[in-house]
Amino acid sequence: MVSKKDILEGLGEVGLLAGDTVIVHSSLSSFGKVEGGAETVVDALLEVLGPGGTLVVPTFSWSVWSGEKPFDPQETPSSVGKITEAVRKRPDALRSLHPTHSVAAIGRLAEVITQGHEKVHAVGRGSPFFKLLQANGKILQLGTDQASNSMIHLAEELAGAPYVDRSREVKVRNAPGKVVKQLIRAPGCGSGFVAIDSLLHGEEAITETLIGKCRARLMSARAVIDAATEALKFDSSALLCDRPNCERCAEARAIILATGMEQQDQEVVDLAKDEERTLRIIERKFDGGEVRYFETDENGSSPN
Ligand SMILES: [Zn+2]
Repeated sequence: MVSKKDILEGLGEVGLLAGDTVIVHSSLSSFGKVEGGAETVVDALLEVLGPGGTLVVPTFSWSVWSGEKPFDPQETPSSVGKITEAVRKRPDALRSLHPTHSVAAIGRLAEVITQGHEKVHAVGRGSPFFKLLQANGKILQLGTDQASNSMIHLAEELAGAPYVDRSREVKVRNAPGKVVKQLIRAPGCGSGFVAIDSLLHGEEAITETLIGKCRARLMSARAVIDAATEALKFDSSALLCDRPNCERCAEARAIILATGMEQQDQEVVDLAKDEERTLRIIERKFDGGEVRYFETDENGSSPN
C-alpha cells in the first residue's frame, strides 16, 4: 500500500520543488494501491508545491470529442484519469473552457493559465500549454509515457507542422444553457511522441524514480519543446506513429506529402517566372540596340 509519505518522498526524489508550475499526466492504477486513493496523490502534490506553486492537470473530455455530449465546464468529467478528476472537483480548482482539451489548475498561476483557452487552439499559442512553457513549467508523468505528453502537440503548432490545421465540430453548452456547435482545431495522434524519449535522455533531461509501482518522471517543458521542434524541423513526420491502423497519422502523412508537392510546384512556377524575366531583359536589350550580333557588316558577311 502506497502512503502519502511514500508519494512525498518520491516527488522529492524526482526533483519537484516548492513554487514549481507543473502539469501532471497520471495513472492512479500505476501506483498499485494508494491509501486514500486519488485524493492522497493530489494532497501530496499540493503539499510539495506549496502556496507559491501551481498544479495543472489535463481534464480532456472524450465524450465531447466524439460528439456524444456537449461540453459543460461544470458537469463534463475529465476523461484522463481519477487524479485529474479529483483535481477538477477541488473547490479551489479553476477549469479552462476549451471544449475538448480543458485543464484544471490550483495555485498561484491557476487563473492566468486557465483563462482564455476557449479563444485559442487547444494546444496552440495562448493555450495553457503555451503559458506553462512561458512560466518555465515542468511536466510530471506519474505512470504515463510521452504518448500523452500534450506539450509535444504545442511543439507541432510552434514548428508549423503541415498537418496541425485539421478541424472537428463539437457541441458546447453556452452560458445561457443553449447547446451550440463549434469548430475546433483537432490535435492529432500522440502515439509517435515516444520518439522524444531518446532525444531527451541524451541530454539527461528526465529525472526518474519509483513510487510504489508507479514510474514517476519529471522534465522541463522547455527541454521537451526544444527536442520536439528540432525533430520536426528535420522531418515533419518525425512524431507520427507507425501503427498500421492509425488513420490520423496516415492522414497527416498525406498532408505532408501534398504540402511538399505544392512547395515543389511553387518552386517550378518561381523558376519559370525567373526565366521569363531573364528573357524579357534580353528582349529589352535587343530593342535598345545594345546587342548587334545579328547585324551584317558592310561586306555582307557575318561578324566573328
Ligand atoms: Zn498515430
